[in-house]
Amino acid sequence: MQNTSEIEELVKLISKLPGLGPKSAKRIVLKLINNRDELVKPLAKTLAEVYKNISRCKICGVLKSSAIDCSYDNCKVIQKKYNQICVVENIADQWSIENSNIFKGYFHILGGTISSAGNKKEDLLINSLIERVKKDKIDDLLTIPVADRPNWSVDEINKEISNSAQTLLGYVVRWIDQGVGCSKVPDINNVGLMEDRATLRISSQHIANWVHHGVTTKMQVIEIMKEMAKIVDKQNENDQNYIKMSTDYDRSTAFQTACELIFKGKDQPSGYTEPLLHLNRLKKKLA
Ligand SMILES: [Zn+2]
Repeated sequence: MQNTSEIEELVKLISKLPGLGPKSAKRIVLKLINNRDELVKPLAKTLAEVYKNISRCKICGVLKSSAIDCSYDNCKVIQKKYNQICVVENIADQWSIENSNIFKGYFHILGGTISSAGNKKEDLLINSLIERVKKDKIDDLLTIPVADRPNWSVDEINKEISNSAQTLLGYVVRWIDQGVGCSKVPDINNVGLMEDRATLRISSQHIANWVHHGVTTKMQVIEIMKEMAKIVDKQNENDQNYIKMSTDYDRSTAFQTACELIFKGKDQPSGYTEPLLHLNRLKKKLA
């Protein structure tokens, strides 16, 4: 690219977004440049507005318009609607709980956990939570259930991971290589179970969560994934269009996608599997 430092800068910035590398960043930039009026102009305007007008509430931690106290009516309780606060680590947690429609109440976003690297108690919105509970006469504090000291044996842990890993690989390999979505996929005991994006999301988020909370390690998960890939390959041996994953794990797009769903699971919007599945299916088709 000659004399286009602006473009290079844009590619650099976009490739910093989760799930995007330099190649996809270039594709996005190309799309933008070809649609200057429809995309670049409104995008620039909206980004500037978000930067100027949106901030985190210093009391409850939700995103809000900077101009008003709390756009959610979340912590500035004018009309008391709820008597529960759901305490979560970050905004992504709030969004996934909101999407699931399982909780009706106020949110409180701590902005991290004390155990995450570099966080001090003072960095988290803990004092304001105590104030809110007192002031708003909250009956109940709900937190995402996390087993505080798991006493599961290594075998029990690995068995659970194996189950999820097998389901994950069984679904992903059919989708990536053959474009087959919802279908009956044999489980670890060769019982055909209906798998779709929802069960895929549960399996991948389960392992992602356990890696995040230190129940297992990335290395251990990769080892189990390789073992399970062999089982899935065996289960599909009669499918003539099937491409084995265990012959070359590094070059198997399906295997790599299943791993990405786990190891990039924390960065996926509400844990959805769509972005990574589509990106990798496209890569596979272009390969
Ligand atoms: Zn607030």
